[in-house]
Amino acid sequence: MSPSDRTCCGVVEEARLRAHDRRTHKPQPWIVRKVAVGLTLALIAYTSYVYVGIFCRDMIIKNQSALGSPTVGIVFLVIFCILLLMVLWSYYAVVTTPPGYAADFVEKFELERPVRGQQSTTFSDTRGMSYELLSPPVDVSNHTSALSNSGNTVPVTLPVVPATATQDKVYHSTPHHQGTSTPDEAHITNVPADTESMRVPGPAPPSSHGSSHHSSSSSDAPPQLFSRQPSTTPVLVAQYRHCGKDKIIKPPRTHHCRACGTCVLKYDHHCPWVGHCVGAFNHKFFVNFVQWASILSFWMFATILGFNIKSQTRSPAPAINPQHIVAVALTALFGLFCCLMFLTQVQLIMLNQTTVESLAFRSMQEREQDNLARMHRWYDFGAKQRTRQRWDKEWGRIGKEGNLWWLGSSRANWECVMGKNVWWWFLPVGRGLEDGLSFPTNPRFDNQGRWRRRREWPSDLQ
Ligand SMILES: [Zn+2]
Ligand SMILES: [Zn+2]
Repeated sequence: MSPSDRTCCGVVEEARLRAHDRRTHKPQPWIVRKVAVGLTLALIAYTSYVYVGIFCRDMIIKNQSALGSPTVGIVFLVIFCILLLMVLWSYYAVVTTPPGYAADFVEKFELERPVRGQQSTTFSDTRGMSYELLSPPVDVSNHTSALSNSGNTVPVTLPVVPATATQDKVYHSTPHHQGTSTPDEAHITNVPADTESMRVPGPAPPSSHGSSHHSSSSSDAPPQLFSRQPSTTPVLVAQYRHCGKDKIIKPPRTHHCRACGTCVLKYDHHCPWVGHCVGAFNHKFFVNFVQWASILSFWMFATILGFNIKSQTRSPAPAINPQHIVAVALTALFGLFCCLMFLTQVQLIMLNQTTVESLAFRSMQEREQDNLARMHRWYDFGAKQRTRQRWDKEWGRIGKEGNLWWLGSSRANWECVMGKNVWWWFLPVGRGLEDGLSFPTNPRFDNQGRWRRRREWPSDLQ
């Protein structure tokens, strides 16, 4: 699968561009961000005109070109109006609800590299939560800091790499960013490699982009067998989540949107069709919108196409209205797009992954695929399968046990975004269980957000 096939709305392209030209990029002007909202409304208006003003009206007034009886026309019109109401309602909800801008919730914070003996620093957000960024202890090899949140202190490590760290002439063929981390976040680079890292003998590493921290480790360590090697980025460490543009410590799962020019809470993706990001506060409404938009599109597509085909069996066959053809084509495209988006969203929500987080899992799976191809002959599918099962047994599954935000059940993950009330799953009202600022973490990870082997999990989960 090529990267461009992965998702809609150019998320992949955005991620790629993010790594390359983040220094020069400016936020899109307001009008550019909102232009697709006008296009979407124009599309809805035009197809509604064709459906009501031509297709249903012809039937209701018994026009010569009618494709059905007046009763059918009235029934279709009523169903259409209900579906259109749901689409417009959910579209209004997603367009008028901001995704949640981190700068509104977290106070500005200029990151300075802590030095030994530095006093602890406190900062707070507008909800009155206070965070404390403690100074590192004396031991240089394991500097620790803490992000305390309403009394719940999460001890975190500030990795500091000795200046003499050497770069290995090997590369790690697994991703170094996962969960809340994206390439632009690794402001503190050169995380020491996990001592159990897999080494892949072969060419020198490709030049890393920007601050990507291809691991450094002692070069005399013996090469080890192929294994799964999850990200070593401590994504729960506050310093790793500093946004240099907004000058804030981002809450977990927050990402900086290039198009909007600001950090968005639980960033899913930037959607031009709604004119801003899909994030913590409007994710649910976005799902409601694509759900109703795909139902409405397929209803219009099926009825207009079906009745036109049926009319062609009559003799003499009536001429096909060209506007029907245009409406069928538009509703097919729009419906397919929305349906794919809806199915993708349902799948990701049940895994408790955002779109941007899912990309990290995909690339991890692709790299693992590459490793399997090196380990086994291309036709040896059984051996590849067994190796993958062995890794899953050792670590748990990528994207599930290996997802920092996975809650263990699809239902629990779903309710985080869509709420507990079943009606809320279909109507653009209510909200999920999350506040966009703090999230329960998977106990299979350590307190810095690194995926651990099964043997290191809490005993009740093993
Ligand atoms: Zn930012
Ligand atoms: Zn955005």
